[in-house]
Amino acid sequence: MEALQLPCRRIHRNYPLNRISFVGTRGKTRLYIKPESKDELVYTLNHLAQQGIPFIVCGASSNMLWGDGYYEGAVVDTSGIKQVEIKGTRLFASCGVMLNELVKICVEEGLSGLEELWGIPGTLGGALVMNAGAFGREIGELVEEVECWKDTEVFVLKKEELSFGYRFSSLKQCIILSAKLALKAGREPEKRVAEVDQLRKVKFPQGPSLGCVFKNPLPFYAGRLIEEAGLKGYSIGRVRISEKHANFFLSPKEASAKDFVKLAEFVKVRVLETAGVSLTEEIVYAGAFV
Ligand SMILES: Cc1cc2nc3c(=O)[nH]c(=O)nc-3n(C[C@H](O)[C@H](O)[C@H](O)COP(=O)(O)OP(=O)(O)OC[C@H]3O[C@@H](n4cnc5c(N)ncnc54)[C@H](O)[C@@H]3O)c2cc1C
Repeated sequence: MEALQLPCRRIHRNYPLNRISFVGTRGKTRLYIKPESKDELVYTLNHLAQQGIPFIVCGASSNMLWGDGYYEGAVVDTSGIKQVEIKGTRLFASCGVMLNELVKICVEEGLSGLEELWGIPGTLGGALVMNAGAFGREIGELVEEVECWKDTEVFVLKKEELSFGYRFSSLKQCIILSAKLALKAGREPEKRVAEVDQLRKVKFPQGPSLGCVFKNPLPFYAGRLIEEAGLKGYSIGRVRISEKHANFFLSPKEASAKDFVKLAEFVKVRVLETAGVSLTEEIVYAGAFV
Protein backbone atom coordinates (compact mmCIF):
# COMPACT_ATOMS: atom_id res chain seq x y z
CA MET A 1 0.00 0.00 0.00
CA GLU A 2 1.30 3.47 -0.89
CA ALA A 3 2.36 5.41 2.25
CA LEU A 4 0.70 8.62 3.32
CA GLN A 5 3.27 11.41 2.89
CA LEU A 6 2.65 13.47 6.02
CA PRO A 7 5.07 14.41 8.84
CA CYS A 8 5.13 11.40 11.19
CA ARG A 9 3.90 13.38 14.22
CA ARG A 10 0.55 13.61 12.43
CA ILE A 11 0.07 9.86 11.95
CA HIS A 12 -0.27 7.30 14.73
CA ARG A 13 -0.98 3.58 14.62
CA ASN A 14 -3.13 1.61 17.10
CA TYR A 15 -4.17 4.88 18.68
CA PRO A 16 -6.23 4.84 21.92
CA LEU A 17 -9.39 6.82 21.28
CA ASN A 18 -9.54 7.80 24.94
CA ARG A 19 -7.00 10.49 24.02
CA ILE A 20 -9.50 12.36 21.87
CA SER A 21 -12.77 11.26 23.47
CA PHE A 22 -14.73 13.54 25.80
CA VAL A 23 -15.98 10.49 27.75
CA GLY A 24 -14.82 7.00 28.66
CA THR A 25 -13.95 4.55 25.89
CA ARG A 26 -11.57 1.61 25.58
CA GLY A 27 -11.51 1.79 21.80
CA LYS A 28 -8.54 2.03 19.47
CA THR A 29 -8.15 2.90 15.82
CA ARG A 30 -5.72 1.31 13.38
CA LEU A 31 -4.74 4.76 12.07
CA TYR A 32 -5.14 8.20 13.61
CA ILE A 33 -4.31 11.14 11.38
CA LYS A 34 -4.31 14.80 12.38
CA PRO A 35 -3.75 17.10 9.39
CA GLU A 36 -2.76 20.68 10.13
CA SER A 37 -4.02 22.43 7.00
CA LYS A 38 -6.88 22.15 4.55
CA ASP A 39 -4.49 20.92 1.86
CA GLU A 40 -3.22 18.18 4.16
CA LEU A 41 -6.81 17.20 4.95
CA VAL A 42 -7.77 16.97 1.26
CA TYR A 43 -4.61 15.02 0.49
CA THR A 44 -5.34 12.62 3.39
CA LEU A 45 -8.98 12.08 2.37
CA ASN A 46 -8.01 11.50 -1.28
CA HIS A 47 -5.36 9.03 -0.20
CA LEU A 48 -7.72 7.08 2.05
CA ALA A 49 -10.45 7.04 -0.61
CA GLN A 50 -8.05 5.89 -3.34
CA GLN A 51 -6.58 3.16 -1.13
CA GLY A 52 -10.06 2.00 -0.11
CA ILE A 53 -9.37 2.58 3.60
CA PRO A 54 -12.55 3.29 5.60
CA PHE A 55 -12.36 6.47 7.64
CA ILE A 56 -14.25 8.62 10.12
CA VAL A 57 -13.74 12.38 10.29
CA CYS A 58 -14.07 14.10 13.65
CA GLY A 59 -13.76 17.59 15.02
CA ALA A 60 -13.38 17.94 18.79
CA SER A 61 -15.28 14.63 19.35
CA SER A 62 -17.61 16.45 21.75
CA ASN A 63 -20.66 14.74 20.29
CA MET A 64 -19.16 11.34 19.42
CA LEU A 65 -19.25 8.17 21.46
CA TRP A 66 -16.28 6.08 20.35
CA GLY A 67 -16.92 2.34 20.76
CA ASP A 68 -14.68 0.13 22.95
CA GLY A 69 -13.54 -2.05 20.03
CA TYR A 70 -10.73 -1.84 17.47
CA TYR A 71 -11.64 0.29 14.46
CA GLU A 72 -10.01 -1.19 11.36
CA GLY A 73 -9.81 2.12 9.53
CA ALA A 74 -8.56 5.66 9.98
CA VAL A 75 -9.81 8.41 12.25
CA VAL A 76 -9.11 11.81 10.70
CA ASP A 77 -9.07 14.54 13.34
CA THR A 78 -9.68 18.01 11.86
CA SER A 79 -9.18 19.98 15.08
CA GLY A 80 -5.68 21.09 14.06
CA ILE A 81 -6.92 22.98 10.97
CA LYS A 82 -7.44 26.51 12.17
CA GLN A 83 -7.58 29.41 9.72
CA VAL A 84 -9.85 32.39 10.29
CA GLU A 85 -10.32 35.53 8.24
CA ILE A 86 -12.78 38.39 8.58
CA LYS A 87 -13.78 40.60 5.66
CA GLY A 88 -16.32 43.22 6.71
CA THR A 89 -19.21 41.25 8.22
CA ARG A 90 -18.20 37.97 6.61
CA LEU A 91 -16.25 35.34 8.53
CA PHE A 92 -14.24 32.69 6.67
CA ALA A 93 -13.00 29.81 8.79
CA SER A 94 -11.62 26.33 8.33
CA CYS A 95 -13.37 23.29 9.78
CA GLY A 96 -11.14 22.80 12.85
CA VAL A 97 -11.60 26.18 14.53
CA MET A 98 -13.39 25.88 17.88
CA LEU A 99 -16.69 27.74 18.18
CA ASN A 100 -15.46 29.60 21.26
CA GLU A 101 -12.46 30.88 19.30
CA LEU A 102 -14.82 32.16 16.60
CA VAL A 103 -17.07 33.83 19.19
CA LYS A 104 -14.05 35.55 20.79
CA ILE A 105 -12.89 36.88 17.41
CA CYS A 106 -16.40 38.16 16.67
CA VAL A 107 -16.57 39.93 20.03
CA GLU A 108 -13.20 41.61 19.33
CA GLU A 109 -14.43 42.70 15.90
CA GLY A 110 -17.85 43.84 17.19
CA LEU A 111 -19.69 41.28 15.06
CA SER A 112 -22.81 39.48 16.24
CA GLY A 113 -24.59 36.28 15.26
CA LEU A 114 -22.60 33.57 17.03
CA GLU A 115 -23.13 34.63 20.67
CA GLU A 116 -25.62 31.88 21.59
CA LEU A 117 -23.12 29.24 20.49
CA TRP A 118 -20.64 30.31 23.19
CA GLY A 119 -19.73 27.35 25.37
CA ILE A 120 -20.52 24.59 22.84
CA PRO A 121 -17.23 22.67 22.91
CA GLY A 122 -17.06 21.77 19.20
CA THR A 123 -15.35 22.81 15.98
CA LEU A 124 -16.95 24.71 13.12
CA GLY A 125 -17.08 21.52 11.00
CA GLY A 126 -18.79 19.48 13.72
CA ALA A 127 -21.18 22.32 14.47
CA LEU A 128 -22.23 22.63 10.82
CA VAL A 129 -22.82 18.91 10.40
CA MET A 130 -24.88 18.76 13.60
CA ASN A 131 -26.44 22.21 13.04
CA ALA A 132 -25.41 22.97 16.60
CA GLY A 133 -27.52 25.45 18.45
CA ALA A 134 -28.57 26.84 21.79
CA PHE A 135 -30.95 29.40 23.25
CA GLY A 136 -32.99 29.69 20.06
CA ARG A 137 -30.08 30.06 17.61
CA GLU A 138 -28.56 27.51 15.24
CA ILE A 139 -25.36 27.85 13.25
CA GLY A 140 -27.14 26.95 9.99
CA GLU A 141 -28.89 30.34 10.03
CA LEU A 142 -25.56 32.10 9.45
CA VAL A 143 -24.17 29.98 6.63
CA GLU A 144 -23.53 31.55 3.23
CA GLU A 145 -21.24 28.95 1.71
CA VAL A 146 -19.59 25.69 2.71
CA GLU A 147 -16.53 24.21 1.06
CA CYS A 148 -16.83 20.42 1.01
CA TRP A 149 -15.02 17.25 0.02
CA LYS A 150 -16.75 14.15 -1.30
CA ASP A 151 -15.36 11.21 -3.28
CA THR A 152 -12.09 13.09 -4.04
CA GLU A 153 -13.96 16.18 -5.32
CA VAL A 154 -13.75 19.59 -3.62
CA PHE A 155 -16.70 21.90 -4.23
CA VAL A 156 -18.61 24.82 -2.74
CA LEU A 157 -22.26 24.59 -1.69
CA LYS A 158 -24.22 27.82 -1.44
CA LYS A 159 -26.88 28.57 1.15
CA GLU A 160 -29.68 27.81 -1.34
CA GLU A 161 -28.27 24.31 -1.91
CA LEU A 162 -28.20 23.45 1.81
CA SER A 163 -30.86 22.51 4.29
CA PHE A 164 -30.68 22.72 8.07
CA GLY A 165 -33.12 21.50 10.69
CA TYR A 166 -33.12 20.62 14.36
CA ARG A 167 -29.72 18.90 14.83
CA PHE A 168 -29.83 18.05 11.15
CA SER A 169 -28.00 19.29 8.08
CA SER A 170 -27.76 18.05 4.52
CA LEU A 171 -23.98 18.33 5.07
CA LYS A 172 -24.02 14.93 6.81
CA GLN A 173 -23.13 13.45 3.40
CA CYS A 174 -19.92 15.53 2.98
CA ILE A 175 -16.66 16.36 4.68
CA ILE A 176 -16.56 20.05 5.53
CA LEU A 177 -13.34 21.91 4.77
CA SER A 178 -14.33 25.51 5.49
CA ALA A 179 -17.29 27.86 5.58
CA LYS A 180 -18.32 31.46 5.10
CA LEU A 181 -20.70 32.87 7.71
CA ALA A 182 -22.71 36.10 7.47
CA LEU A 183 -22.63 38.18 10.67
CA LYS A 184 -23.98 41.59 11.63
CA ALA A 185 -22.15 44.64 12.92
CA GLY A 186 -22.59 46.65 16.10
CA ARG A 187 -24.86 44.89 18.62
CA GLU A 188 -22.52 44.63 21.63
CA PRO A 189 -22.00 40.88 21.29
CA GLU A 190 -20.00 40.67 24.55
CA LYS A 191 -23.14 41.34 26.64
CA ARG A 192 -25.04 38.43 25.14
CA VAL A 193 -21.96 36.18 25.42
CA ALA A 194 -21.77 36.96 29.16
CA GLU A 195 -25.49 36.14 29.54
CA VAL A 196 -25.12 32.86 27.64
CA ASP A 197 -22.07 31.96 29.75
CA GLN A 198 -24.13 32.44 32.91
CA LEU A 199 -27.12 30.51 31.53
CA ARG A 200 -24.93 27.54 30.62
CA LYS A 201 -23.36 27.47 34.10
CA VAL A 202 -26.80 27.42 35.71
CA LYS A 203 -28.44 24.94 33.32
CA PHE A 204 -25.80 22.39 32.40
CA PRO A 205 -23.75 20.02 34.58
CA GLN A 206 -19.96 20.18 34.83
CA GLY A 207 -17.97 17.00 34.24
CA PRO A 208 -17.20 14.69 31.32
CA SER A 209 -20.21 14.32 29.01
CA LEU A 210 -21.26 14.54 25.37
CA GLY A 211 -23.85 17.23 26.06
CA CYS A 212 -27.43 16.15 25.38
CA VAL A 213 -27.57 12.43 24.62
CA PHE A 214 -31.03 12.52 23.01
CA LYS A 215 -32.80 14.97 20.70
CA ASN A 216 -35.82 16.67 22.17
CA PRO A 217 -38.90 14.85 20.79
CA LEU A 218 -40.74 18.17 20.45
CA PRO A 219 -43.00 19.37 22.01
CA PHE A 220 -41.42 17.31 24.81
CA TYR A 221 -37.96 17.74 26.31
CA ALA A 222 -35.86 14.60 26.59
CA GLY A 223 -34.35 15.70 29.92
CA ARG A 224 -37.80 16.24 31.45
CA LEU A 225 -39.05 12.83 30.21
CA ILE A 226 -35.98 11.07 31.68
CA GLU A 227 -36.46 12.92 34.96
CA GLU A 228 -40.17 11.99 35.04
CA ALA A 229 -39.19 8.35 34.48
CA GLY A 230 -37.36 8.64 37.81
CA LEU A 231 -33.91 8.18 36.31
CA LYS A 232 -31.97 11.22 37.56
CA GLY A 233 -28.77 9.93 39.18
CA TYR A 234 -29.30 6.39 37.81
CA SER A 235 -26.07 4.72 36.71
CA ILE A 236 -24.74 1.69 34.88
CA GLY A 237 -21.08 0.94 35.61
CA ARG A 238 -19.26 4.29 35.76
CA VAL A 239 -21.79 6.12 33.57
CA ARG A 240 -24.38 8.19 35.43
CA ILE A 241 -27.38 10.30 34.50
CA SER A 242 -26.75 13.83 35.74
CA GLU A 243 -28.78 15.03 38.73
CA LYS A 244 -28.75 18.53 37.26
CA HIS A 245 -29.90 17.80 33.72
CA ALA A 246 -31.14 14.28 32.98
CA ASN A 247 -30.27 14.41 29.27
CA PHE A 248 -26.55 14.56 30.19
CA PHE A 249 -24.74 11.28 30.96
CA LEU A 250 -21.58 11.79 33.01
CA SER A 251 -18.90 9.37 31.95
CA PRO A 252 -15.34 9.67 33.29
CA LYS A 253 -12.33 8.52 31.28
CA GLU A 254 -12.26 5.16 33.10
CA ALA A 255 -15.83 4.33 31.99
CA SER A 256 -16.59 2.11 29.01
CA ALA A 257 -18.62 3.05 25.95
CA LYS A 258 -20.50 -0.22 26.49
CA ASP A 259 -22.00 1.08 29.74
CA PHE A 260 -22.91 4.38 28.03
CA VAL A 261 -24.78 2.46 25.32
CA LYS A 262 -26.49 0.19 27.89
CA LEU A 263 -27.64 3.25 29.82
CA ALA A 264 -28.96 4.93 26.66
CA GLU A 265 -30.89 1.76 25.73
CA PHE A 266 -32.28 1.47 29.26
CA VAL A 267 -33.43 5.11 29.23
CA LYS A 268 -35.15 4.64 25.86
CA VAL A 269 -37.10 1.63 27.15
CA ARG A 270 -38.12 3.37 30.40
CA VAL A 271 -39.22 6.60 28.67
CA LEU A 272 -41.25 4.62 26.15
CA GLU A 273 -42.92 2.73 29.00
CA THR A 274 -43.60 5.77 31.18
CA ALA A 275 -44.37 8.48 28.59
CA GLY A 276 -45.03 6.54 25.39
CA VAL A 277 -42.35 8.61 23.61
CA SER A 278 -39.46 7.19 21.54
CA LEU A 279 -36.16 8.95 22.09
CA THR A 280 -33.50 9.12 19.40
CA GLU A 281 -29.86 9.92 19.93
CA GLU A 282 -28.36 13.32 19.22
CA ILE A 283 -24.90 11.89 19.88
CA VAL A 284 -23.11 10.00 17.11
CA TYR A 285 -21.89 6.42 17.66
CA ALA A 286 -18.49 5.99 15.99
CA GLY A 287 -15.78 3.35 15.66
CA ALA A 288 -16.22 -0.28 16.69
CA PHE A 289 -18.66 -1.43 19.37
CA VAL A 290 -18.11 -4.74 21.17
C1 LIG B 1 -20.68 19.90 27.68
C2 LIG B 1 -21.29 19.88 26.29
C3 LIG B 1 -22.25 20.81 25.96
C4 LIG B 1 -22.84 20.79 24.68
N1 LIG B 1 -23.79 21.73 24.39
C5 LIG B 1 -24.34 21.74 23.16
C6 LIG B 1 -25.33 22.72 22.81
O1 LIG B 1 -25.69 23.58 23.60
N2 LIG B 1 -25.84 22.67 21.56
C7 LIG B 1 -25.44 21.75 20.64
O2 LIG B 1 -25.93 21.77 19.50
N3 LIG B 1 -24.51 20.81 20.94
C8 LIG B 1 -23.95 20.80 22.16
N4 LIG B 1 -23.00 19.85 22.46
C9 LIG B 1 -22.66 18.82 21.47
C10 LIG B 1 -21.44 19.18 20.58
O3 LIG B 1 -20.53 20.02 21.26
C11 LIG B 1 -21.87 19.83 19.27
O4 LIG B 1 -22.68 18.96 18.51
C12 LIG B 1 -20.64 20.24 18.43
O5 LIG B 1 -21.08 21.04 17.38
C13 LIG B 1 -19.88 19.05 17.86
O6 LIG B 1 -18.68 19.54 17.31
P1 LIG B 1 -17.38 18.63 17.26
O7 LIG B 1 -16.33 19.35 16.54
O8 LIG B 1 -17.03 18.18 18.63
O9 LIG B 1 -17.94 17.43 16.40
P2 LIG B 1 -17.64 15.89 16.59
O10 LIG B 1 -18.26 15.43 17.86
O11 LIG B 1 -16.20 15.63 16.41
O12 LIG B 1 -18.46 15.28 15.37
C14 LIG B 1 -19.85 15.32 15.32
C15 LIG B 1 -20.29 14.76 13.97
O13 LIG B 1 -19.82 15.61 12.95
C16 LIG B 1 -18.95 14.89 12.06
N5 LIG B 1 -17.87 15.84 11.71
C17 LIG B 1 -17.06 16.54 12.53
N6 LIG B 1 -16.28 17.37 11.82
C18 LIG B 1 -16.60 17.17 10.51
C19 LIG B 1 -16.14 17.73 9.28
N7 LIG B 1 -15.19 18.66 9.22
N8 LIG B 1 -16.72 17.30 8.14
C20 LIG B 1 -17.69 16.35 8.17
N9 LIG B 1 -18.15 15.77 9.28
C21 LIG B 1 -17.61 16.19 10.45
C22 LIG B 1 -18.47 13.68 12.84
O14 LIG B 1 -18.15 12.61 11.97
C23 LIG B 1 -19.72 13.37 13.66
O15 LIG B 1 -20.66 12.69 12.87
C24 LIG B 1 -22.42 19.84 23.74
C25 LIG B 1 -21.42 18.91 24.07
C26 LIG B 1 -20.86 18.93 25.34
C27 LIG B 1 -19.76 17.94 25.67
